[in-house]
Amino acid sequence: MQNKGDLIVILGTGGTIAGTAADPGDNVGYKAAQLSVEQLIASLPGLAGRRLETEQVAQIDSKDMDFATWQQLAEKLAQHLARPEVSGIVITHGTDTLEETAYFLQRLLNPVKPVVITAAMRPATSLQSDGPQNLLDAVAVAAQAHVAGVLVAFAGAIHSAEQVRKVHSYRLDAFASAEGSRLGVVEEGIVRWLARRPSAPAALGLARISRPAAQWPRVQIVMNHVGADGAVVEALLAQGVDGLVVAGTGNGSVASPLEAALRQAHEQGVAVLRSTRCDAGPVSAAADALPSAGSLSPVKARIELLLTLLAD
Ligand code: ASP
Repeated sequence: MQNKGDLIVILGTGGTIAGTAADPGDNVGYKAAQLSVEQLIASLPGLAGRRLETEQVAQIDSKDMDFATWQQLAEKLAQHLARPEVSGIVITHGTDTLEETAYFLQRLLNPVKPVVITAAMRPATSLQSDGPQNLLDAVAVAAQAHVAGVLVAFAGAIHSAEQVRKVHSYRLDAFASAEGSRLGVVEEGIVRWLARRPSAPAALGLARISRPAAQWPRVQIVMNHVGADGAVVEALLAQGVDGLVVAGTGNGSVASPLEAALRQAHEQGVAVLRSTRCDAGPVSAAADALPSAGSLSPVKARIELLLTLLAD
């Protein structure tokens, strides 16, 4: 489908891209989520001539992203996507949980227009802030006709919501697509596509998340490691938990005591998914093993399980 309008809506949620520090040389001692999305675009001459609209949906450090904000963001996004004059949407976000928000929005809405999430590793006050260029690149991608789905534009690369992961805690080039599957690059405002995005499953729809955020299922992640036992699972069962994702080793393998606790949880009605703590690759399903999360990372498997449980 060719997008008809030429309006790009930029939704702000906070993050380092909107962060400030007292000292321009300080790239770590800053406060995230200080500048409005309006202020971010005001300082970008490269956007002159574009039809833009901004809306501040949240103003948070993305380490604190929560279900209520996701719900609000998804609703806003759906409203703007439905406007015929809107050709694409950009979301400014923190880098820490960007891949989770991207996957959540993709599964929920599978948009027919481009929704491009961007962020920054350095605050807006930095001597060498990466936010302005990332924002310009995100707008260039959002302006592309024929593009659909939730994408991430970061450090000159374009990633899909399904494959993107934060892979570095400090470097400007902090994101990668699993197994080198990035979709394209942005060079001086020109978008160059390198790969075709596989077709995505149908949108689950906004109705899936209509219940109050405080009533969403509780899904937790536990990790396999040397000496892993069942204590964390038992503690979660005692507290009450609806779903468990295990970040297994290798092909989703789990130490025997942890596996026994997970099987017990499963028998008690807790949904369990087995993923891998490896950076890439699937967990092959096996007849007698706990259900596989396929090639979803543990955090994305958690979202998948959460959205599945929300259907009940
Ligand atoms: N803690 C920040 C956030 O995720 C980090 C960043 O944006 O780079 O909001």
